Amino acid sequence: MGKKNKQFVEKVTAMEDDFAQWYTDVVKQAELVDYGPVRGTMIIKPYGYAIWENIRDEIDHRIKETGHQNVSFPMFIPESLLQKEKDHIEGFAPEVAWVTHGGEEELQERLVVRPTSEVLFCEYYSKNIHSYRDLPMLYNQWANVVRWEKTTRPFLRSLEFHWQEGHTAHATQEDAEQETNRMLDMYASVCEEILAIPVLKGRKTDKEKFAGAEYTLTIESLMHDGKALQSGTSHYFGTGFADAFDIRYLDKEGKQQLVHQTSWGITTRIIGALIMVHGDNRGLVVPPRMAPTQAMIVPIAQHKEGVLDKAYELRDRLKKIARVDIDASDKMPGWKFNEYEMKGIPIRIEMGPKDIENNQVVLARRDTGEKEFVALEDLELRLPALLEEIQKDLFDKALAHREEMTSVAKTMDEFGEILESKGGFIKAMWCGDEACEDKIKEEFSATSRCIPFEQEKVSETCVCCGKPAKELVYWGKAY
Ligand SMILES: [Zn+2]
Repeated sequence: MGKKNKQFVEKVTAMEDDFAQWYTDVVKQAELVDYGPVRGTMIIKPYGYAIWENIRDEIDHRIKETGHQNVSFPMFIPESLLQKEKDHIEGFAPEVAWVTHGGEEELQERLVVRPTSEVLFCEYYSKNIHSYRDLPMLYNQWANVVRWEKTTRPFLRSLEFHWQEGHTAHATQEDAEQETNRMLDMYASVCEEILAIPVLKGRKTDKEKFAGAEYTLTIESLMHDGKALQSGTSHYFGTGFADAFDIRYLDKEGKQQLVHQTSWGITTRIIGALIMVHGDNRGLVVPPRMAPTQAMIVPIAQHKEGVLDKAYELRDRLKKIARVDIDASDKMPGWKFNEYEMKGIPIRIEMGPKDIENNQVVLARRDTGEKEFVALEDLELRLPALLEEIQKDLFDKALAHREEMTSVAKTMDEFGEILESKGGFIKAMWCGDEACEDKIKEEFSATSRCIPFEQEKVSETCVCCGKPAKELVYWGKAY
């Protein structure tokens, strides 16, 4: 590494020294976000937004493919509407933003800036669902929501964030539960196949479920520092909201029935996961399938005759097979190398006078730093293959890390030791009593992450109280 490169890299704190600072440095240096003028708000910059757009497009495509339609609902909710479902308002009241004035005039009824839109959809469904022929109603919206969080961090927790929220109404429980599972599977496949983030699928405990839901399904992923991150949730509501909002339909026998509902969402938080699963001390590492730019051409000695022409020619050729860009600015190649490493662009293509003479280029991988010479004529084959190799390697590496960071605890002492020494996911049996969940949270600041669909019996008794265990739970400290 040259002197200049070293100076550049020093702008990012090493993750081993201070993981939180490393995260903040990468978010800033990779030009993903800036802070907004109100504490806890963020400006998503072009590169950060391009990443979000790619994730959004992958999800949107799958949402539509499974028969859902996109809609746009208002951002204001009247207070009386939010209060219709008791658990729901209790869950969200501490963090809602209130609108009390319109201009100088005090409003007769306070408005909430949506923290989530269940009640708006329910109100609409109660007016627009009449018969079994109207079902299922499969709506989704891409929106920003506001939650007045006390401590905030870019992407992970901010006053305002972007997401999609699906809201569906079904004739039967079976149909609604299938939907709840289908959408969780959809999130899991986007995380694993596109973002190269392995996820655990399971159900939340009652303590951790969504306010107003009968149950919540979740995908959980593990960050580099051993903390967990809830990466997407899908909720089954049963008929609770339908009852509160009087959402009924006439079935085929002419009887009035309550609808069964679901909602599901994934947010810009997932970009935080992307950073903390794949990033390293040189910055961001973006998996090829979702990278806004998959390969960046950096011409070497570009002032020499013919170099730029050849580089542009190569760009135009490769654009047909991958998202390839070129940096032909007059900045030094070393600066460019660092810049695109910081931004996590999967492959750098170097091309200089010597390479042109030899009819070749250098492909440099962002994730491993490995370089290879490739003949120009082989690029149509090699470039896409290498992108797929990187994609797979990133997933495998993240999976190996998660496995290494997953431990079993049979006693509270073991639980504490593991959390202190390495963190990560802890598999431990649970009796099903919320008191034990509370005690674990109080003693270790660890929460139940999920009751995995794939159950095992690692011991006979609850890790906390020693009574007979009901199920295996994954625990951990979480973002
Ligand atoms: Zn117990």
